[in-house]
Amino acid sequence: MAETLRHLKFLRAVSDGKPSVEKLRGAIRELVIVYHIYRVEAELIGDIHLESGEQDITVYESGNSIPAGDPAKYAYTLSPGKSMVVYIYPAGTAFDDIERRELEIIAAECMMILRMLIRDNSRRVTRDHTEQQVTGLPNGNGYLEKVAERIAEGMKIAEQSALYFNLKGFGEINRQYGREVGNTLLRQYAGAVKTFVGKDGLVGHLGEDNFVALIPKKRQSEVVAFLRDVHPTEADPGLKIGATIGVWEIPGEVDDTEEIIKRPYIAYNQAKNFLLRPVVYVSDALVKQVDQQRTVLERFENALAGEEFQVYYQPKVDSVTRLLVGAEGLVRWIHKGAVISPGVFIPALEQSGQTLPLDLYVLRHTCMDLRRWSVDGLNPVPVSVNFSRRDLKEPGLAKKICAIIEECGVRKELVEIELTESIDDEEHGVLAAFINDLNKLGIRSAIDDFGSGYSSLSTLREFQVHTLKIDRSFVNSDDFSWRDEIILRDIVHMAQELGMNVLTEGVERDDQLAFVNSVGCHVIQGFYFDRPLPREEYEKRLVHRQYP
Ligand code: C2E
Ligand code: MG
Ligand code: MG
Repeated sequence: MAETLRHLKFLRAVSDGKPSVEKLRGAIRELVIVYHIYRVEAELIGDIHLESGEQDITVYESGNSIPAGDPAKYAYTLSPGKSMVVYIYPAGTAFDDIERRELEIIAAECMMILRMLIRDNSRRVTRDHTEQQVTGLPNGNGYLEKVAERIAEGMKIAEQSALYFNLKGFGEINRQYGREVGNTLLRQYAGAVKTFVGKDGLVGHLGEDNFVALIPKKRQSEVVAFLRDVHPTEADPGLKIGATIGVWEIPGEVDDTEEIIKRPYIAYNQAKNFLLRPVVYVSDALVKQVDQQRTVLERFENALAGEEFQVYYQPKVDSVTRLLVGAEGLVRWIHKGAVISPGVFIPALEQSGQTLPLDLYVLRHTCMDLRRWSVDGLNPVPVSVNFSRRDLKEPGLAKKICAIIEECGVRKELVEIELTESIDDEEHGVLAAFINDLNKLGIRSAIDDFGSGYSSLSTLREFQVHTLKIDRSFVNSDDFSWRDEIILRDIVHMAQELGMNVLTEGVERDDQLAFVNSVGCHVIQGFYFDRPLPREEYEKRLVHRQYP
């Protein structure tokens, strides 16, 4: 993206003065140096005529002898019944995702320049393309255009803050009073905000009740305070509208103007959906986290197809007999020689609902290993694998799990499915039904991280699981009290009475081991005995079995 802003400025310069297809061709020819473009074409749909009379709008052809690949296609509506499609053909191989995104901006620019050359309706089209109908504020495109204009006029971007904000409770107003009232309110709100922000800032309206603003940093706290409590009308002084706000204090030069919307959006999204706070500021950690998530999601499918994921096995050991009694299969992403922990990619996959293919992959690989160990006479001990709660949405999941175990020719007692507890009643029901399905198919299950947050004693009563895994916070938290100890002792006792196996996770030291033993738990999964091990390493444990 680093080049895009320069390109935008460049294209704009070209289109200054009297625009012409020839000028556009010239501009795009320059861009071809950066992207492997073969040809750029625009197709006009509907009754549209170019001012120049030049209807053939292949705006660039590289003359490259490499044949063109599949084009990236970007469609724009000009007015009802009239639209334009911009095709950008790669020379040879297809564009990758990043290139496509960058080219989208170029296509939009082509579209804007061509639009200036369109004879009829050109004024109206311009407005639709850059203005929000309800409020008359610039829309996303218009806002970014204005930002670019101000930068060109000498505004120092590093002295600005970018905001993204969304009105609280607006959906409810729309539902209760109807769209007309909602729109009137939006107009009044937009007017009030625009007036307050004044000439030294910019306000945009992205649609619905989503707004953006660029303001000088020195006015940031004042504007944020205002947005938390806007009075949209003089007529009704009792009416106040608050917003959830994401703030990005722009640190320096911005390579890609779209970041002026995207960055504060990240903070806004965090404020609204995770932290439940009215204002969140973009921090390095937040940006890093979101960038990482984006990278994970972009690479995930290929990585899975390329078998970049491996199962590591962490031994479970009976601390009395010191014998290996089981293991947990834990996924690792081996990328360019580095081993990436699930903590880095599982949350991103969970958010986008993509854990299931990975969990089934881990199950299948674990089963294949179990099978091989049996064939090789290693007499494997049971292995548990994790399934995300999100996976339970999949219809017939228990059957799918069963099919994989059977296809691999593994005895069912050798596999256990780990699940964490549910957080609400609906999920609770889904989880109970799933455990029930597994039970009917003769597949074992375990409650993972028990005691880490939402657990309750009713879990013990309602879920007929085979194993209870006590969360490691029970052994490594600093403020562990004698009350916790009593509770833990009772939980262990009750679970055992109910016929469940009990295991404690995260035991690292002698004193922790002594403590869990004292409350009646003897099976341990923790660094005290072993870390998660690559397969070959774990196979050595299968041979020895006995810990010192
Ligand atoms: P988990 O299922 O509770 O797995 C136990 C985690 O605790 C593992 O982290 C393990 O390395 C770590 N651990 C074990 N003993 C100790 C100890 O003594 N001290 C400390 N500090 N940590 C210990 P890991 O492998 O990084 O996995 C983290 C989580 O990622 C897992 O927690 C599980 O929720 C998830 N996960 C791992 N593999 C999969 C998978 O294939 N599918 C899904 N859906 N989730 C997975
Ligand atoms: Mg687990
Ligand atoms: Mg756990």
